[in-house]
Amino acid sequence: MKVIVVGAGLAGLTCAKVLVERGAEVVVFEASDGVGGRVRTDEASGFLLDRGFQVYFTAYPVSKRHLDHDALDLKPFDPGAIIRRERESSVLSDPVRDPKALVPSLLSDAATFPDKLRTLRLVASSVSEKAETAGELDGADSSSLEFLRSNGFSERIIGDFYKPFYGGIFLDRSLSTSSRVLRFTLKMLSTGKTAVPARGIGEISKQLASHLPPDVVRTESPVSRLLRAGERVVGVETPYEQHEADAVVMATDAPAARNLAGQAAPEGSVGQLCVYYAAEGVRSGKKIVLNAEDGGFVNNAVQISTVAPLYAPRGQHLLSVVALGGFDLSDEEVYRRGVADVTGWYPQADLTPLAIYRIPYAQFPQPPGVHEELPENRTSTPGLVLAGDYTEDSSINGSMLSGEKAAGEVMRA
Ligand SMILES: Cc1cc2nc3c(=O)[nH]c(=O)nc-3n(C[C@H](O)[C@H](O)[C@H](O)COP(=O)(O)OP(=O)(O)OC[C@H]3O[C@@H](n4cnc5c(N)ncnc54)[C@H](O)[C@@H]3O)c2cc1C
Repeated sequence: MKVIVVGAGLAGLTCAKVLVERGAEVVVFEASDGVGGRVRTDEASGFLLDRGFQVYFTAYPVSKRHLDHDALDLKPFDPGAIIRRERESSVLSDPVRDPKALVPSLLSDAATFPDKLRTLRLVASSVSEKAETAGELDGADSSSLEFLRSNGFSERIIGDFYKPFYGGIFLDRSLSTSSRVLRFTLKMLSTGKTAVPARGIGEISKQLASHLPPDVVRTESPVSRLLRAGERVVGVETPYEQHEADAVVMATDAPAARNLAGQAAPEGSVGQLCVYYAAEGVRSGKKIVLNAEDGGFVNNAVQISTVAPLYAPRGQHLLSVVALGGFDLSDEEVYRRGVADVTGWYPQADLTPLAIYRIPYAQFPQPPGVHEELPENRTSTPGLVLAGDYTEDSSINGSMLSGEKAAGEVMRA
């Protein structure tokens, strides 16, 4: 059986890996110059620059089936966060994961004692839930904000912790994202570690691609059209050739699936502006720093080279700073505003601009109820199967599950 996969992001690579394991003949056409889609890392002057700040949860159930964690040499963040409000700083830790921080955590004024007990209750209930993705969680859905309020959390902890922390994960500080994503993320945070591979997030994609025989992935090969025979999809067209196959898996992002295959897929996007500095004097350890100020530019920052030393040349440090807007600002203004926020928190910090990544399409929006309406892998068009995060949830785990399911669908068909 010959299968064409369009797109070498995590969904396409996982799909190709499973199909190859089951004996199919697979070709992956990728429009860009490398594998990984939204999960790639650049090297510049000895620094490792992920294409946007993102983290890997070691508890991701699907990813665990396909990735060798030891070979990725995962470097964990410290649990909890440093919360900054103007010149004040408090450390919020998770006493379940980090017992040595229990005392400072309980003394921290960022959360009241009842809020901490509610958080512990929420953690306990999320840990017992059985689901491989956010969309598989039971119960009525609501926005994360409504969910937290209905569980009795104070406006203080919502503003100081949940908005910047989950805002950084959902890329949506308003917490309008589905509470299923919040519950699933909490389960991942509580049952495993939050980490990055020692040599950058792109190692996840490279490891998946390493399972494929040479020449399976053809980069710089954008698919411009699907070939049809009557109703059936029978292949694809790349700039120079037509290629026939028994099945075509569209493993692109949602906009490309809509444009190329005419498939219904979620509209809109949430994005991230990621700014890198060579940094001196930021003493945040391995914790993420959250901005509790609503009007600030920076949402979160982390000295990533303290977590994973190979991100910076020996003797230097790399600071990764995330803003959830400001895509239209000039580079100069972006760097200036990043420096203003960070030096407000760490007056001794000395930051040298390195790079800016503007990523307006990082994830598809996930409002309450979205998971019930996402497209199936199977389509009504014979020969055409869908993969991509937009069929599950917008995450590393969701995209890999979509690839796994798409491969199963191809084999069944
Ligand atoms: C900045 C950022 C932060 C994130 N943070 C996290 C996080 O912390 N944790 C987490 O779990 N997830 C996070 N995510 C989400 C996660 O990275 C994505 O959900 C996942 O990578 C999507 O994979 P995919 O294979 O579905 O799509 P993509 O990675 O978009 O892959 C699609 C591929 O298709 C290719 N393509 C498109 N059109 C064509 C065509 N016509 N012909 C050939 N190829 C084509 C594209 O070039 C691309 O390589 C983040 C994403 C970003 C960008």
